[in-house]
Amino acid sequence: MAILPIIEAPDPRLRTISTPVETIDADLNRLIDDMFETMYDAPGIGLAAIQVGVPKRVLVMDLQEPEVEDGPPVKRPMVFINPQILDGSPDLSVYQEGCLSIPEQYAEVERPAAIRASWMDRDGRIREEQLDGLMATCLQHEMDHLEGVLFIDHLSRLKRDMVLKKLAKLRKETAKAA
Ligand code: ZN
Repeated sequence: MAILPIIEAPDPRLRTISTPVETIDADLNRLIDDMFETMYDAPGIGLAAIQVGVPKRVLVMDLQEPEVEDGPPVKRPMVFINPQILDGSPDLSVYQEGCLSIPEQYAEVERPAAIRASWMDRDGRIREEQLDGLMATCLQHEMDHLEGVLFIDHLSRLKRDMVLKKLAKLRKETAKAA
């Protein structure tokens, strides 16, 4: 397994529309393993293949929520291949979102609170589930990546420009410190 470099905004590759996975082969399994290692190392709770430069409709997620309140995080790795949203609830929820491709920037985004989604798992089985809470938000955020959409695209132009400016400043400071 390997930790892959994560592409950061405003890299134009993040605007790529990813293509469906045709076969689950050794290469894809290696990519999924590497994506998990990259996501856990970052650390983050979700990662789309395009964020490591691979324009395929593959997502990994792990909310790493504790089993009991204040308990240690429990790993529950999930793989979504060719995911689709079949239905979204009319009621919306707001989460403070961040993105490994937009480091250290967070903003509130409104999305359907619950979704019905289908996807293929690692074993090639088709799954269909009703998801809500952070899981629903995270899957919608990651699925946006497959269409070349970032969470800042859901913000007003003013807020989006502010985030990008802060990101550029942060990058300059990091470059100076290095
Ligand atoms: Zn993201």
